[in-house]
Amino acid sequence: MSDHTKLSAALFDRASAVTPGGVNSPVRAFRAVGGVPRFMASGDGCHITDVDGNTYVDLVCSWGPMLLGHAHPEVTAAVQAAVGRGTSYGTPTQPEVELGEEIVARTPVDKVRLVSSGTEATMSALRLARGATGRAKIVKFAGCYHGHVDALLAQAGSGVITLGIPGTPGVTEATTADTIVLPYNDQAAVTQAFAQYGDQIAAVITEASPGNMGVVPPVGHFNDFLARTCKDNGALFISDEVMTGFRITRSGFWGLGSDTVAPDLMTFGKVMGGGFPAAAFGGRADLMAQLAPEGSVYQAGTLSGNPVATTAGLTTLRLATDEVYAQLDRTAETIRRIVGMALSRAGVPYRTQNAGNLFSFFFVESSDEVTRRITDFAGAGAQVLPRYAAFFHAMLDNGVYLPPSAFEAWFVSAAVDDDALATIEKAASVAARAAAAVQN
Ligand SMILES: *Cc1c(COP(=O)(O)O)cnc(C)c1O
Repeated sequence: MSDHTKLSAALFDRASAVTPGGVNSPVRAFRAVGGVPRFMASGDGCHITDVDGNTYVDLVCSWGPMLLGHAHPEVTAAVQAAVGRGTSYGTPTQPEVELGEEIVARTPVDKVRLVSSGTEATMSALRLARGATGRAKIVKFAGCYHGHVDALLAQAGSGVITLGIPGTPGVTEATTADTIVLPYNDQAAVTQAFAQYGDQIAAVITEASPGNMGVVPPVGHFNDFLARTCKDNGALFISDEVMTGFRITRSGFWGLGSDTVAPDLMTFGKVMGGGFPAAAFGGRADLMAQLAPEGSVYQAGTLSGNPVATTAGLTTLRLATDEVYAQLDRTAETIRRIVGMALSRAGVPYRTQNAGNLFSFFFVESSDEVTRRITDFAGAGAQVLPRYAAFFHAMLDNGVYLPPSAFEAWFVSAAVDDDALATIEKAASVAARAAAAVQN
């Protein structure tokens, strides 16, 4: 065991004794890249510091929420003041009203309901869609992640149009029998699924721009196509912006303007909680009116709209101005360029894709694939994974914390400064050589 991971390793042993795999969410265990997961002790701006005292430029940002960087002084002050007033009452409070207003002002949704995690948001949106349409089936896309909702943990079978098979033990066939899993960006598959099951489909759910298989944006106005196909068939279109919402633009992927048909329902999370558990689903007023207590579709939560979480989210969103988004775009572009240059110099074939400031690198198998757009899960899967693992560890050893999996987006914060960019540039040239040393 090396000295610089001694305390993380000791904590990981203790954690493994009381928690499955030593972590409370699987990706944190470093299984995809190997090695000892780092236990973080503090964060400040664009940096995080582990229990052994190693400091990293953070390009995970808690998987998205830390848009402004860690321990932002204004967010911290607002949270401390909120905590001092009491942490939960189980009654409505003012901050949740203001966060709701902020979300409605930034996005196409008319009304919003706050929950505590992205999983709860998508689960509740599906229930509402099924309740509102009186239909059972849901269409989702392979490689899109919507949290660990049973019905959405389905895998595609062998044909193009198959009813989902459980993607994990513990999810029953009955639960996924109403889930249709299709290849992403495949309009013909969607058309065929509606031809076969049209009058049974309650909703199509998709990530507005997938970021959970690496960044694989929609092509050919796929979201508008989905929205229109749903409308023509009496189904609802659910756009999951839990990752992209309030990150890519002040609204999310929607704000880039490439989609023109507003989704019937949307889901949000991550950035809107400012590092606390807060998420939401929202949409057309007539649909949202079907939720209890106004309507009959039941949905509830003891800590929903928690005053501390909503204060953190509200303060974060109010500080996330147009200038902040412009800066995030510039930072993301710079990191893509310097990492891309390092990989090119080392002769590592790669492809980088982005949706605004959300981006990722694919360590493709050969230089022929560098110019071939990755449009679905099958394409994203064709990577030299050991090369990413080598790259990841060299970056880590040189002070940059990347997602510990090749199938994740990289997240920037507004706190990334020139010093951090210099650290990334230096680390990337070492890491690119480490990746190059891995044989295909
Ligand atoms: C993270 C994520 C979720 C799940 O959110 P949790 O808060 O982890 O439950 C859902 N959808 C998308 C697109 C996500 O990225």
